[in-house]
Amino acid sequence: MKNIVMLGAPGAGKGTQSALIAKEYSVPHISTGDILRMNIKQGTELGALAKSYIDKGALVPDEVVIGIVADRLAQPDALNGYVLDGFPRTIAQAEALDKVAKIDIAINIVVDTDIIVKRLSGRRVCVCGETCHVSSLNGSDVCPRCGKKLFIRDDDKPETVKARLEVYEKQTAPLIGYYENKGILVNIDAVGTIGEDFEKIKKVLE
Ligand code: ADP
Ligand code: ZN
Repeated sequence: MKNIVMLGAPGAGKGTQSALIAKEYSVPHISTGDILRMNIKQGTELGALAKSYIDKGALVPDEVVIGIVADRLAQPDALNGYVLDGFPRTIAQAEALDKVAKIDIAINIVVDTDIIVKRLSGRRVCVCGETCHVSSLNGSDVCPRCGKKLFIRDDDKPETVKARLEVYEKQTAPLIGYYENKGILVNIDAVGTIGEDFEKIKKVLE
């Protein structure tokens, strides 16, 4: 299986599609956001550091996330391909990644900005890992998967969403050109349902 990088603005659906790819092809889904949030939950030193950036919508320093990813990619389960979700997010991260890995394909999930804002502001998450949108909950506030109470991620609050989108434009969007220059960029217009978008991605991966 391939070594895959997922690109796209916050809220584009990278996490959802990454999870589907990981399941379909039995490769690890490596999300720096998930790793950082797990550290916050467990109260580690890394978590405390990360939280101070994440809550502002800022990026965690490159050397921190690069270290996390290098360690993770050295695990045996990453030998037969993986999906990197949320990393790289800066050119410096992409260059560091190229030193420790050979990326085969960068999948850029393309979604309109107004849709993104709607999605992030309506996003609800659960401790079990489920993510959903208020529009599909019919007024309920519990997880459709496990029944626990859903919550809003601190960084999905409106001011933070704005900061994250600005950071994306400035620091992460240049990665599209970076992977295009390498000839491994594929744009996926995510205009359909989750399943339809995933079908497009599967075609690209086969
Ligand atoms: P989203 O893609 O919806 O913004 P993520 O879960 O990928 O959510 O990331 C949440 C936050 O975690 C980011 O806003 C950032 O502060 C931090 N983060 C995640 N990945 C990285 C990374 N590669 N470099 C720096 N910060 C990161
Ligand atoms: Zn749940």
